[in-house]
Amino acid sequence: MKNVDYIIVGDGYAAMFFAHQLINNNKSFYLFSEGKKSASFVSAGIINPAVLKRFTTFWLAQEQIDVLKKTLSEIEVYTHKNYWIEKPVLRVFHDEKEKELWLKKSNEISFLSKNFLKINSVKNPFGCGQVDNSARLNVRDFFTDLMNYLEKNSHLIKEKFEYKLINTENSTYKDIQFKNIIFAEGMVVKENPYFSDIPVDSNKGHHLEVKLSEKIEDDFTIKKKHFIFPLNEDTYYYGGTYDREQMHHKIDDSAVEKLTNALAEFYPNDFEVVNVKFGFRPTVKDRRPIIGAHSEFKNLYVFNGLGARGILNGNYFAINLYNHLENGEKLHPEVDLKRFR
Ligand SMILES: Cc1cc2nc3c(=O)[nH]c(=O)nc-3n(C[C@H](O)[C@H](O)[C@H](O)COP(=O)(O)OP(=O)(O)OC[C@H]3O[C@@H](n4cnc5c(N)ncnc54)[C@H](O)[C@@H]3O)c2cc1C
Repeated sequence: MKNVDYIIVGDGYAAMFFAHQLINNNKSFYLFSEGKKSASFVSAGIINPAVLKRFTTFWLAQEQIDVLKKTLSEIEVYTHKNYWIEKPVLRVFHDEKEKELWLKKSNEISFLSKNFLKINSVKNPFGCGQVDNSARLNVRDFFTDLMNYLEKNSHLIKEKFEYKLINTENSTYKDIQFKNIIFAEGMVVKENPYFSDIPVDSNKGHHLEVKLSEKIEDDFTIKKKHFIFPLNEDTYYYGGTYDREQMHHKIDDSAVEKLTNALAEFYPNDFEVVNVKFGFRPTVKDRRPIIGAHSEFKNLYVFNGLGARGILNGNYFAINLYNHLENGEKLHPEVDLKRFR
């Protein structure tokens, strides 16, 4: 029998940020990955403390960004790579009124810069506002490197975790004796007999990978209807859509059409769609993650509901969950699963 402190089920932001806490604190663990592309892997990687519809900010934004920077510097120690891309988010103004509103709000919301910019190669006749303290995560390298690290250090089990093989009486799973299991499965939680009833709803998102005939200046992340930013020399990310209805695991043509039309309105030159990707955001009505123990089996935990802010929520609450389990810290009441009981 192998003995570990933790089993983690999943390989998205929730799982990876929790795994980092275990690595950082020398805990023993296995992480199960069924090898499907997670919503996290197709995410844009945008780290944005502003709400760009209303020019406001959100719960814990500054604190979450500070803690994320610290975590990424800790991860860099063992992967030897920096995943923080220091390129700000720019919000394209629809008209003069929006610009005035931004300026007014910038007196209260420190993230809204008073410096306006104009960008070549996209339509922005009223200019753009810059969000200070925003950035991007290098998503592909972050996941590739962390998975490699886990594999090299014998933490990774490339299998689907089978719920029916948990023995709750003696805390074993096959030949593994565990202290706790953290279920970090995103929308697949609906298949988990211990937590299938948690109130997470799917919000499907598509994005395009496009080749642009003319580069956009300075690698900014630009938001008009959707976000656009470079993935490499000539390929750009454009997305994502939001859809609460579609649950099937196929590309929706209507989402592709929506994105293609929106890009054509905004980008005046030729472009070619080279790839379409989609994922399912696990969202919660009160817009807070869901973390907590099973009502009967106290060493089975769920970590879910990261919504549209997988990076900031995933990192911040992985720390809260770790400190709860190991150091007796209280779970933040607003994310505690108990709020639904
Ligand atoms: C198009 C799009 C763009 C986005 N952009 C951003 C962004 O810019 N910034 C941001 O912060 N967030 C963004 N998000 C949101 C973010 O992606 C989600 O909040 C996040 O992915 C949720 O992470 P998770 O770890 O909970 O779940 P997931 O990423 O879905 O990961 C769960 C993983 O667990 C695996 N798994 C489940 N069950 C099992 C099992 N039994 N055995 C083994 N493996 C299992 C699944 O296969 C899956 O790979 C975006 C989402 C989408 C769809």
